[in-house]
Amino acid sequence: MFNKLYLFGILFFSLTLLNCQTSTNNKEPKITFKVSKKDKDWKEELSPEEYEILRNKGTERPNTGIYNMHFEEGVYACKGCGQALFKSNNKFMSDCGWPSYESALPGAITYIKDTSLGMVRTEIVCSNCGGHQGHVFDDGPTSTGKRYCVNSASINFINNKNE
Ligand SMILES: [Zn+2]
Repeated sequence: MFNKLYLFGILFFSLTLLNCQTSTNNKEPKITFKVSKKDKDWKEELSPEEYEILRNKGTERPNTGIYNMHFEEGVYACKGCGQALFKSNNKFMSDCGWPSYESALPGAITYIKDTSLGMVRTEIVCSNCGGHQGHVFDDGPTSTGKRYCVNSASINFINNKNE
């Protein structure tokens, strides 16, 4: 009897520990965003791929996104909330396999230090809803020196024709 209880205790303890680890994975201070929805609502609104990227910080496979080689005049907006994030004239041809921009629209992006995968990177999220967009690197070939590396699945293109 004692043994059983003991085992049960260990199991319970491990499960609790596991739970804690997953919920405190993000050690950055909590940032709050204007648009805040329950996880289940995001799941309903977004496709599984969009959800994985925007809410779970996933990354689409290189050279698979619809906007990688997309060069039309307009604005790229957050797929989570519709906030405009990047302008087409700040997009440049990059061989990294993801849509790349030299700059973002003022105030559109929140920058978060990301130390996952044993690297120090700067994560970029939509400043309105916190939707993960990708990362920004200091190896851009244009005058800004920046490369905003973005997932196609986290953005929507809006052309200028309707303005
Ligand atoms: Zn957003």
